Amino acid sequence: MKKLLWILPLAGIVFAACSTVSMTGRKQLNLVSESEILSASLTEYQSYMKTAKVSTDAAATAVVKNVAERIAAAAEAYLTVTGQTADLQNYAWEFNLTEDPNLNAFCMPGGKIVVYSGMLKLIGNGADRDDELAAVIGHEVGHAIAKHGQERASQQMLASMGSSVLGAVVGGASAETQQIVATAYGMGTQYGALLPFSRKHELEADYIGIVLATIAGYDANAAITLWQKMEAASGGSAPAPFMSTHPSSTKRISELQKNIPKVKAEYGAASQPAAKTSTTKKATTTKSSTSTKKGTGFKIG
Ligand SMILES: [Zn+2]
Repeated sequence: MKKLLWILPLAGIVFAACSTVSMTGRKQLNLVSESEILSASLTEYQSYMKTAKVSTDAAATAVVKNVAERIAAAAEAYLTVTGQTADLQNYAWEFNLTEDPNLNAFCMPGGKIVVYSGMLKLIGNGADRDDELAAVIGHEVGHAIAKHGQERASQQMLASMGSSVLGAVVGGASAETQQIVATAYGMGTQYGALLPFSRKHELEADYIGIVLATIAGYDANAAITLWQKMEAASGGSAPAPFMSTHPSSTKRISELQKNIPKVKAEYGAASQPAAKTSTTKKATTTKSSTSTKKGTGFKIG
């Protein structure tokens, strides 16, 4: 009986700590505060950037920066139009291309976007380069705006801790909380071996990714060719971190094929033509603040 007693307050906490992912309407657990996630993420991002090799390829950096800025602007426009303006203050966008042969990219909570050179190499320099890059970055920004890191940290707390610790967690920050937040987001010493997101999170990020790419004026169909390339590249070897182990490429592609026409119909009218980056253009910075495209007038149904 004693063992069961803690379930009651716990159930109350869980109920009180549920929030909703606005783009999909899914309910999510939210036991970790925004400020804790943001500060843990910033710390981990800064330590990653200290050891990462920032690309010196100005043309390639300009390509990444251009697409990432447009996706960031689409995310901000979406948050604005849907009334989530309080979340806007959490984003201080940064865009980076780092020299790393792995097929990976990420967007930290708070908007720190990194694309690995290996991913850009896989995409290649064809006519659909920016569209495919938009699918990658849109997916990663999707994890961030749907607060998947926060949700995973919350799930981890719930799974691994008892009510006494939960009480402390909900009551305020602690060193333990910081550790759990970092671990749950696959950060810290585990960097480069990111914990895979769950199947549910991956599919949700795929969906948000095609919405953001569409709002930003890119062709969402490129998400399909991107996954086909990823699948071909992974061959029989271990899956790339970006790809995660699940869901399978087949499942992702069939979901994308189902969702893309709907997303294009719903958000396509709002999109802005995406100018291709000239590969000769010089990038002088990898850091930028993105102006919010307010009042673009797209309808969120
Ligand atoms: Zn993902």
